[in-house]
Amino acid sequence: MGTYPLLRVENVKKYFPVGRALFGKSKQYVKAVDDVNFSLDVGGSLGIVGESGSGKTTLAKVILRLFEPTSGKVYLDNIDLFSLSNKEVRRLRPKMQMIFQDPMASLNPRKKIKHIIGQVFKIHTDISDVEISERVIDLLEKVGLTPPELFLDRYPHELSGGQRQRVCIARAIALNPKLLIADEPVSALDVSVRGQIVKLLLEIYEKYKNEIAYIVISHDIALIKSICKDALVMYLGKVVEKSEIGKIIEEPLHPYSQMLISSIPVPDPEIARNRKRIPISGEIPSLINPPKGCYFHPRCPYVMDRCREKMPPLIEVDNRLVSCYLYSE
Ligand code: SF4
Repeated sequence: MGTYPLLRVENVKKYFPVGRALFGKSKQYVKAVDDVNFSLDVGGSLGIVGESGSGKTTLAKVILRLFEPTSGKVYLDNIDLFSLSNKEVRRLRPKMQMIFQDPMASLNPRKKIKHIIGQVFKIHTDISDVEISERVIDLLEKVGLTPPELFLDRYPHELSGGQRQRVCIARAIALNPKLLIADEPVSALDVSVRGQIVKLLLEIYEKYKNEIAYIVISHDIALIKSICKDALVMYLGKVVEKSEIGKIIEEPLHPYSQMLISSIPVPDPEIARNRKRIPISGEIPSLINPPKGCYFHPRCPYVMDRCREKMPPLIEVDNRLVSCYLYSE
């Protein structure tokens, strides 16, 4: 049997219909995710970065089969997720978990913490109540909610935002997932606790990296840098650059990546002075009516005539992928 990556995303598209075109029968579509390809091995950590509206969260939901794709395939452990019945997906669900942006919204406000985490074991295992209690205590310790006895009988509203996100992380890792997707895991939290949650995510990654792969979604490329090895930059549903995160930070190829990097503060004034900067300008265009050619051309300082005509293909440049005519013949 050959080897294969833990996760393969092949030509995934997700279009949402938005009504009918004026005087025409054809529907208009929002191309939230448009022909995305990548793979991820066990131990891999991939950041998906882009402004809101770039399709990051939709892509994550397609990967987890929370959304059906318009076309394309997603394989987890060589299993074609879209060929599975709903029942089979439910059985596989513990293996692919998501940590959501807003911990309050993703926890049942009427349940105590011990029930919120314990429910995962009730649904997916047949272990005894005593064993469930032990596992819950163990998980609370793993995510730094100590002493666990202090938290078992509390309700989500009795916890701080950071503590709630720790509960969400405990629930997500409860059944040893193979794929863990964190969607803007710290953006709803106070600045003072963001660092602690990033540290926790890194500790969990270090502890389980021989078993899991991580995807972290964020508009904040500095956050991606602190958690992930690789990054995929998305703009209006398309991948515009993919590479090791260090290379993207040091030498971003795509002008959009350069724009995102420009927003990261640099402590060293000399490096900051010499850094090529593209100030963030303009707004992300409408997905219903994206610009012709390269979607980034209305905001790009290097725009050329051909950029307005045809979308540049995603090509390989120095073992990196980029979609920009600055790098093609
Ligand atoms: Fe800018 Fe043209 Fe490259 Fe698009 S293809 S990013 S418009 S230079």
